Amino acid sequence: MIPYSTQLIEEDDIASVVEILRSSHLTQGSKVKEFEEAIAHTVGAKYCVSFNSATSALHGAYAVCGLGEGDEIITTPISFVATSNMAIALGAKPIFCDIKMDGNIDENLIEGLITSHTKAIVPVDFAGKPVKIHTIHKIAKKHNLLVIEDACHAFGGDINHQKIGSFADMTIFSFHAIKPITTGEGGAVVTDNEEFAQKLRLFRSHGIVKEQLWHSDMVEMGHNYRLTEFAAALGLSQLHKVDRFINIRETIGRYYDERFEHHPLFTTIFIDPSHQSARHLYPLLLIPELHCVKEEIFTQMQERGLGVQVHYKPIYQNSFYKERYGEMHLSRAELFYRSELSIPCHQKMTMENAKYVADTVLEIIGKYTYGGCNF
Ligand SMILES: *Cc1c(COP(=O)(O)O)cnc(C)c1O
Repeated sequence: MIPYSTQLIEEDDIASVVEILRSSHLTQGSKVKEFEEAIAHTVGAKYCVSFNSATSALHGAYAVCGLGEGDEIITTPISFVATSNMAIALGAKPIFCDIKMDGNIDENLIEGLITSHTKAIVPVDFAGKPVKIHTIHKIAKKHNLLVIEDACHAFGGDINHQKIGSFADMTIFSFHAIKPITTGEGGAVVTDNEEFAQKLRLFRSHGIVKEQLWHSDMVEMGHNYRLTEFAAALGLSQLHKVDRFINIRETIGRYYDERFEHHPLFTTIFIDPSHQSARHLYPLLLIPELHCVKEEIFTQMQERGLGVQVHYKPIYQNSFYKERYGEMHLSRAELFYRSELSIPCHQKMTMENAKYVADTVLEIIGKYTYGGCNF
């Protein structure tokens, strides 16, 4: 099976982890700091605070900007549940904004959702494609809101050569195994705001401030959301490879773009040539006439060794959300969910693999030319 995304671990990655395993510090040593400085430097942010997942990083980002009971964030339903879950964990309410057919939040609809309770706008760079961050920033500024960018798909991407991570008040990355680079599990918040960075460090580690000798003081509620030293060592080793990884995914993405151009039964997502998508996912969008056979298409692709997946069920359609907030409908988010199919695209694939994937996709979908739902 060729998975839709996976990690690429090489001998030097393994060696850097083993080195830490043989050392004196498995946690709270110097590697985490080194990793954080390298991440901040790479993306052009002043501070990076690492976490043991992007979920805990989101929890931290929301907490340090004071999000709580009665507050709202405006976010996208086409994301992994953690984006909105962590706001709910603090007592806040996610307000879902509809999307565009590239999977990203529709920046033109954001302003209409702002209320006196809104604290932050939380866009997600879906599949790695950068959101319209400048427009979102302007809206936020006008209404005195924060922009917290969930860039879990987008590490290494850029807009006109300026890296994702240098635009928002806080940007969150994931280093989960199948994300652009990995620490196994892991995440980070990058920011230029010193106060946020300080509070994030406290939130990550029990809210304890170390003083002299054995003296310490717990000054804020905190958690243990720390990354281990060996995870940071893996992250550092992976970080050196991020451009190569993105190049491979970009090459495969462009190859698919060409193979699938002008197909009558599905479309792909356009990426502005002046933007670099991290190409975390390669989504196909089936035309509505194929929605009734999507399960069939999905199963056939899996049977032929394509580890396809669907990203994402609109978050508000999950039982937890329905029970809490009732039924809601956003037409493009739902159309996108019915249309979307993510096919394999990652740094472990060869061009031969990519050719096999493209051939197989065209063969399987091609069978429906005369037999879709409403033909
Ligand atoms: C993966 C992901 C997360 C959660 O990341 P973890 O590191 O697994 O906690 C959050 N948001 C988005 C958009 C993601 O893709």
